[in-house]
Amino acid sequence: MEIPAGRWSSRAHKWFETRRIDRVIAFDVQLTTMFRGVRARRGIMLHGPSGWGECAPFAEYGPDESALWLQGAAEAAIHGIDMPSARESIPVNVTIPVVAPQDAAVRARRAHCRTAKIKVADPRSTLHQDWDRIRAVSQVLANEFGEAAHVRIDVNGKWERDDALEAIAFLNDAAAPVGGFEYVEQPCMAVEDLAWVRARTSIPIAADESIRRAEDPFRVVELEAADVAVVKVAPLGGIRRALELAEQLPIPVVVSSAIDTSIGLAAGVALAAALPELPHACGLDTQRLLVGDVAGPLVSADGALSLADARRIAEGELLGGRLVGDETPSFAANISNDDGAAGSDTWLGSGSRPDPTTRPAPADLVDSWVTRTEAMIAARWNEDVA
Ligand SMILES: [Mg+2]
Repeated sequence: MEIPAGRWSSRAHKWFETRRIDRVIAFDVQLTTMFRGVRARRGIMLHGPSGWGECAPFAEYGPDESALWLQGAAEAAIHGIDMPSARESIPVNVTIPVVAPQDAAVRARRAHCRTAKIKVADPRSTLHQDWDRIRAVSQVLANEFGEAAHVRIDVNGKWERDDALEAIAFLNDAAAPVGGFEYVEQPCMAVEDLAWVRARTSIPIAADESIRRAEDPFRVVELEAADVAVVKVAPLGGIRRALELAEQLPIPVVVSSAIDTSIGLAAGVALAAALPELPHACGLDTQRLLVGDVAGPLVSADGALSLADARRIAEGELLGGRLVGDETPSFAANISNDDGAAGSDTWLGSGSRPDPTTRPAPADLVDSWVTRTEAMIAARWNEDVA
């Protein structure tokens, strides 16, 4: 849904004009299952001289934090995603949401990635359900890839540090078919607690929230809180800022998405391609979590994403469909991951399943993104456009 130029304040106009942003499009793309508490990804796409950039901060992010996403989107639109690259192909993991074990196994099998990242510690799932999901996926990967298979879990900081050690040991047993976890991502929220846990387990620890939502991402290094840093382009304010951070971190980096559309994923692929070292599979195969898309789709083949595809998508050359901009805020015309298979979206919650058809009217979608974008610009760029 294109946002008409007349909807913007003079401040926003000036902000876009100085950056040569000529189109702003609001989008609403549904997810195949609830992920990270959301059922849809909503945001805006900016178009500039070098192509498209995505800005889709989560609903709970305030204007100041969201402004980094806007900055990253503008950077991609102005300068593009092209950077000197060390590789053309990016190994990726399949991301397994909180679903029933048989659905998890289907997703793992279908993606054909050697590495899986499994979400755990969700309020809809018990530790025993997490165990079953991990075991189901580990079995699939061990059967298909043997020694080359890896399983990692993402806790999103949900455990208290005293519970974390026990939970890690318990769940690690479920990953026995692949030799235990490759790493555990953000077991606790506080960086001090990450360090505490890491000092007491032999399983590697990865930091995600402690990097992207932290005042100082280097605290992770100072406190020796992690073996791996998860780096995401959008929340860090764009590819170049993310690359700068990655180069300064003395630990391996895993580039991941913020459940981006293919436009945002393309920027992640470019970052992963630019890193001198890339020892772990990246968390960029999340297009599979979307029902539709605004471009692309950028999905893995044989466990890897292609930089050439990413470039074409970011520049506006589309692989499977049209770009957004029509009345339909999201389209799934040629691009669909929802094959309607029975049990492909198993609801584990105790309450009623959220209604996937609850979507904002296009006019409301535009209104909300005009308001949010204006607030981001006011929060960060008040002086240079005042
Ligand atoms: Mg994470």
